Amino acid sequence: MNAPVVGQPGGTAGLRRLHWNPWVDCPGGAAKGTDVSQVTSTVRGPRASLLDTETPTGDQQAEVIVVGAGPAGSATATFLARYGVDVVLLDKARFPRDKICGDGLTPRSVRMLARLGIDTSPEAGWHHLKGLRVYGGRVGQLDMEWPVLKDFPNYGLVCPRIVLDDLLAGNAVEAGAKLYTGVRVTEPVIDATGHVKGVKDATGRVWSAPVVVAADGNSARLAVNAGRSHDTRAPMGVAVRAYYESPKHDMEWIESWLELRDGTDLLPGYGWAFPTGAGTVNVGLGMLNSSAAFGNTDYRELQRRWLASTPPEWGFTEVNRVTEIRGAALPMCLNRQPLYADGLLLVGDAAGMISPFNGEGIDYAMEAGQYAATAIVDAKSRGFGTSGAELALNNYGVVVKEAWGSHYRLGKAFVKLIGNPRIMHLCVHYGLSNRRLMILVNKLLANLTDRHDGDVYDKIINSLEKLAPSG
Ligand SMILES: Cc1cc2nc3c(=O)[nH]c(=O)nc-3n(C[C@H](O)[C@H](O)[C@H](O)COP(=O)(O)OP(=O)(O)OC[C@H]3O[C@@H](n4cnc5c(N)ncnc54)[C@H](O)[C@@H]3O)c2cc1C
Repeated sequence: MNAPVVGQPGGTAGLRRLHWNPWVDCPGGAAKGTDVSQVTSTVRGPRASLLDTETPTGDQQAEVIVVGAGPAGSATATFLARYGVDVVLLDKARFPRDKICGDGLTPRSVRMLARLGIDTSPEAGWHHLKGLRVYGGRVGQLDMEWPVLKDFPNYGLVCPRIVLDDLLAGNAVEAGAKLYTGVRVTEPVIDATGHVKGVKDATGRVWSAPVVVAADGNSARLAVNAGRSHDTRAPMGVAVRAYYESPKHDMEWIESWLELRDGTDLLPGYGWAFPTGAGTVNVGLGMLNSSAAFGNTDYRELQRRWLASTPPEWGFTEVNRVTEIRGAALPMCLNRQPLYADGLLLVGDAAGMISPFNGEGIDYAMEAGQYAATAIVDAKSRGFGTSGAELALNNYGVVVKEAWGSHYRLGKAFVKLIGNPRIMHLCVHYGLSNRRLMILVNKLLANLTDRHDGDVYDKIINSLEKLAPSG
């Protein structure tokens, strides 16, 4: 028998709980019949897929509508619900759903998962990773543990997105957000003054709210329909990945290959192998648009060629490949702005928040969710629609740029540099053999420094970021 609908604001209105057990085992962790059905996970936690979402009929109203229940949307909704805001979270997909990704969670992401209230202990089924192993150059292999810092934990994780996103959306519901899946948002509802007052879905239903959050990923349809185009000068990446059954599934490192070649030229990108800890490894490669090869490369073929050169005992073979090789774009460096205007706030890939240094976007999506929720709750306290509330909402963009603006600016310079095959060669060939330099690079790429009172590496990186040229 189904449990009754809980209809309190901040509860789970609209959701019929099926077998609600917030800490379910999910040995399969994947939808049957999808190409990820053989990708398993031992991670436990709340699951949106165990909730039967009953989408209400007729037009709806809330204090905030969040479009997209990926890491950005689910984090935003979780924090908003915790702050007591009446928030509706919409997604066109039904969970569990796949998302093309490397599934890598650096200590930045681990910190955010903790802030979201997710238990990432081994007891909750998480496979802890102690650092980054890099292959390339003269040294062949270099192991670097995650740094010990005041601001971040010193372990990483890998979680297939079919599991992670289900868990994050389930966590938002547990916090009190109202999640409705299978709802495809088609356009913003804009009033005569140009202010976004809600969204319309594919059935014509209107979801109204004084604040709308676009967290719909790299397509950024909502922002595009509201007239926000992207900055074509900002760096962009493309990446492909597939899962492979491999004995490396339970290694304690995430691995990177820095020597991806187009003929003899080194490409500005890297290959990765991220172990899920449950039988498979997420293997893929990504590349930046700063090289001539960017638009002319067959990435699936590049992946096959690269993997054919890896040791056979690792198992990255066509026979062991359990999913298709699929790719997607990586929007970077806040390529879509303004982050807030006219009632519409952008978070995650919709705003192009991926780091150009390592292609990491999950963390930035979740962190932005916290910044967005803080700005919205400040606006609520001043009264939505007032000039004070607009000031608070505008502050979201200020806070995001203060947090990462210099990192992205330095990243833009980095992307230009490594787009030159000769500089890429120098970095890989000579850089990797200098251990001190690599400790610095590791911290820089993953954006892992103590902001205050850090060690000498942190001071160098924080100063470099301050000096980064604008534009
Ligand atoms: C190949 C690849 C590898 C990557 N590897 C990593 C990695 O290892 N680590 C890392 O940190 N980052 C990685 N990234 C980046 C990361 O995947 C993204 O930055 C991250 O998913 C952004 O989260 P998001 O919530 O903004 O968007 P998404 O995760 O894309 O979520 C958007 C949600 O919006 C929903 N949606 C879209 N349109 C609509 C609509 N019209 N109506 C309703 N709902 C809608 C979608 O169904 C989806 O659930 C990788 C990216 C790629 C392409």
